[in-house]
Amino acid sequence: MSTLAEYAGACLNLELSARQLAQFEELGSMLLYWNQRMNLTSITAPKDIVVKHFLDSLTLTTVVSQFDGLRLIDVGTGAGFPGLALAIAFPALEVTLLDSTAKKLRFIESVGRELQLKNVRTMHARAEDAGRDKGHRASYDIAVARAVARLPALMEYLLPLAKPEGQVIAMQGMTAYDDANSAAKAIEALGGELFAIEEVLLPTLDNPRYLIVIDKIKKTPRQYPRQPGTPTRDPIQ
Ligand code: SAM
Repeated sequence: MSTLAEYAGACLNLELSARQLAQFEELGSMLLYWNQRMNLTSITAPKDIVVKHFLDSLTLTTVVSQFDGLRLIDVGTGAGFPGLALAIAFPALEVTLLDSTAKKLRFIESVGRELQLKNVRTMHARAEDAGRDKGHRASYDIAVARAVARLPALMEYLLPLAKPEGQVIAMQGMTAYDDANSAAKAIEALGGELFAIEEVLLPTLDNPRYLIVIDKIKKTPRQYPRQPGTPTRDPIQ
């Protein structure tokens, strides 16, 4: 994990303790071990796990100045990215990892026990249902997702979960500017406002990544999110 320590320091100005580096090391091992039994990730080279999962997740530090005491939800977390990596790096951040696939959450729960992460909880649900649930709607300082749905549908997953004055962050690839344009109506209808599109560069990768940051400026109207499946089938546009 010396590569992770060096990259995190050099690229993100983030210093990870020996304990945190050991936790990342264990997470990498568990990911590879469980991946032999279930389809968790197609990224399996150790260096790629460091850059494309761990470091990519930690790029959120470039747009969030401090995480301590905040509540974050990672929607469609899969094997736990970006949320699990953030939970390791920021023990005072409260992280909810949501996915509709229960077996991926079993992996995360096992990691949580093994790494003794006290700031992680899982939620087995569709994002559309979580956004209508009183215990989760408008409850998070930050709602984030990577590689879950096209941006207009993703906005309907994330914006209902963010508190007023909270933020939504979508981790996107090269089409980020077009994605943001395509989601402009959805962002407005759901109570958001585009704040910034930040380019992030990761070591060893040619193409930049982008963080689309949206401020929640108004309550999300009661009719959103719609029924599970509707945001992807009939996106707001
Ligand atoms: N965020 C992870 C990453 O970047 O490595 C996983 C990405 S994976 C391609 C997409 C995940 O989103 C899957 O685990 C899937 O079960 C979940 N997902 C898709 N639509 C969802 C929804 N409406 N509600 C909850 N989870 C959803």
